[in-house]
Amino acid sequence: MNAVETFSDRDLTESPLRFSEGTPPVRFGIFGDPVAHSLSPVIQNAAFEACGIPARYARLHVASPAIRAAVRALPAAGFLGANVTFPHKAAVLAAMDEVDDYARQAGAVNTISVEGGHLKGFNTDGPGLVRAIREEFSVDLRDLRVILLGAGGGAGRAIAVQCARESCERLVLVNRTFDKASQLAKELAPMFRSDRLIGPADRLVAIPFEDAALRRQLQLADLVINATTLGMKRGDPPALAPHLLTANLMVFDTVYAAGVSRLLEDAAAAGARCANGLGMLLHQGALAFEIWTNRPAPLEVMRQALHSRT
Ligand code: NAP
Repeated sequence: MNAVETFSDRDLTESPLRFSEGTPPVRFGIFGDPVAHSLSPVIQNAAFEACGIPARYARLHVASPAIRAAVRALPAAGFLGANVTFPHKAAVLAAMDEVDDYARQAGAVNTISVEGGHLKGFNTDGPGLVRAIREEFSVDLRDLRVILLGAGGGAGRAIAVQCARESCERLVLVNRTFDKASQLAKELAPMFRSDRLIGPADRLVAIPFEDAALRRQLQLADLVINATTLGMKRGDPPALAPHLLTANLMVFDTVYAAGVSRLLEDAAAAGARCANGLGMLLHQGALAFEIWTNRPAPLEVMRQALHSRT
């Protein structure tokens, strides 16, 4: 495969015709800042090639002040769709003509579909996580008691909304800035009103990011999800202190950037079952492909492409 090109917001707004040069033309891309690390071009270009779709997927390096104009320039530049990564997911939502229900509730868009001149926003992070959990642990998110670290971040919020939509057994929202977890709990509370769990524990709680509170909640948990940015850089401290981890837990780290994170190393040492964020990346990408093309994603081709790069 050719090297993945990186374009800027000025390429989109000032030279829209350049995306149609070359064979196949650039019709998809990912917005981010930074974006060089993104593996989305690898999996999407492999999928387009395998399906004989004449389109290329590029990196779109755009800083926050320019994101709205860059996104609005997609139709004129001939794009059919795009993905969105850090730090633009919330800002892009506001630039859409239409947003699907889940993305609106999550407050973030990670997939844009361009239909005529119309921009429609979706979020495939939550559904991608559901598929990854099923694949990695052979269980459904809806049957689990979940502790979500980093619930106040973009990915954390999308995962929390997904847990609520799946009506998971129990959800504990944990965030360094406690107010964000507490506010999110208020928003999601109506979705947790049911009697599925018998016993004294509330089905939805927000707690501060502190060992004592975490220790109590971990006794009532099946799955820990790390949606903080801790673990993205080598040398980051683990998202959870090692002494809190036990063999009965499943631990899912949304981070995939730095190989095995400290959290996953510690969880494996404690005997817990573990998975990193590559499965979520794969499945959110496959779901985006299906939105754009209205056909099943070539999942094994995409998986192979991803594993050849990690
Ligand atoms: P974000 O919006 O910036 O949120 C960052 C979160 O991390 C916030 O909850 C923040 O807490 C918390 N945090 C940051 N530093 C911390 C620290 N030192 N201690 C405790 N908490 C800390 O970022 P994002 O876009 O949601 O991304 C979060 C993670 O999800 C990243 O690692 C990203 O790679 C991953 N992700 C993976 C996939 C995938 O497909 N695998 C998809 C999307 C995202 P405060 O609210 O207190 O600041």
